[in-house]
Amino acid sequence: MRYSQFFPQTLKEAPKDEVAVNAKYLIRGGYIDKLMAGSYTLLPLGMRVVQKINQIIREEMNKTGAQELLMPLLHPKEIWNETGRWDSASEVMYQFEKNDKEYALSFTHEEIVMDLIRKHTSSYKDLPIKVYHFSTKFRNELRAKSGILRGREFMMKDLYSAHFSEEDLMEYYWKVADAYLEIFKRIGIDVKIAEASGGVFTTSHTHEFQALCEVGEDTIYHKEGWKFWKNKEVMTEEELSDPDVKSAQAIEVGNIFPLGTMYAEKMSALFTDQDGSKKPVWFASYGIGPTRVMGTLVEIFHDDKGIIWPEAVAPFQVHLIGLHEKADSVYHNLLEAGVEVLYDDRWDTNAGTKFADADLIGIPVRLVVSTKTLSAGSGQAGTAMIEWKKRDSDKTELLTFEEVLARI
Ligand code: ATP
Ligand code: MG
Repeated sequence: MRYSQFFPQTLKEAPKDEVAVNAKYLIRGGYIDKLMAGSYTLLPLGMRVVQKINQIIREEMNKTGAQELLMPLLHPKEIWNETGRWDSASEVMYQFEKNDKEYALSFTHEEIVMDLIRKHTSSYKDLPIKVYHFSTKFRNELRAKSGILRGREFMMKDLYSAHFSEEDLMEYYWKVADAYLEIFKRIGIDVKIAEASGGVFTTSHTHEFQALCEVGEDTIYHKEGWKFWKNKEVMTEEELSDPDVKSAQAIEVGNIFPLGTMYAEKMSALFTDQDGSKKPVWFASYGIGPTRVMGTLVEIFHDDKGIIWPEAVAPFQVHLIGLHEKADSVYHNLLEAGVEVLYDDRWDTNAGTKFADADLIGIPVRLVVSTKTLSAGSGQAGTAMIEWKKRDSDKTELLTFEEVLARI
């Protein structure tokens, strides 16, 4: 992709009201645009990062046997009344009236999935069901000051599973927990599993996937010998005053909920078991916020010049800076080799600005083709040299095109 044609270009300043590092760098770098507090556009660069995150999630979800679908975001009041959440979750849910009918914008999808399950399940042979989607969630977040870590509108991958027994549910539940650990490992985030309470979702314990980060809103606790970390809400007074318990700030990037049979009972999602009796399905839900994950990566991986993306989710593999027209042929050769390149071909822009933009945008590898690099290769007939630099290092090296390809 030629940067001269890229929409939009970098900005010198972030909006004054943005205090979070993730929002400042993502806005200046051209990844997101702020419409209002808690509401952001994913610009082409940001979209590429989120699509990479989503693809990793998708691959790991599919490995668990889950299937992707897409559910609506506009919900009738009646479905939320079936579980009582129209009232109990009214603080978080955007509710409104139109033509004498009441609606909500989706803040989650348990009720909608349960409706699908009761329509399409009759026997234990139809179970288990494992479905997920990537879609927008709307939540009336009171504090929307953390950039894309806490949007009022944000992207979520939510998976739902329905089972014929508690045992089958819990076996899949822990399989998904493992899939989550693999997802975050591939993305490049070190996560801890923390026990937490279920909020408006369930009265039993849930498990959060917490990325350690100083600016995280959550405090999590751990003590030698504990299997999991614990969220503040589940800590006893005694545990809180134990000097052997350590605490850390963290960002919740995922959360899984073993919901049991409560939703199925309230919504009559029943199946006929092997013995002929009718039973409610066992149900669980599992969320990850890809846009929050993108913000978390920026909070963890940045320096005073900009973002430093982990390779797996960087918007491009290589940032090629053209300071000489011969960079054009390097660009074409990289494309031909299947490399994802952002090519800074702005001939009216000075080198300093191009380097600063590359640091801000944060692609893992920077290549430069200039008069200097070309003359360095003049000894070997026809071999132009290219300057190689990693975003997370100050070391530059002169390499041949073949050497560059071998390293990407
Ligand atoms: P929090 O406690 O941070 O408000 P939550 O527990 O309400 O989050 P869940 O309902 O568990 O969130 O949602 C699943 C995932 O969706 C979260 O783990 C997080 O990654 C993401 N998420 C939740 N709320 C937001 C938000 N306001 N903005 C961006 N991502 C969010
Ligand atoms: Mg949560």
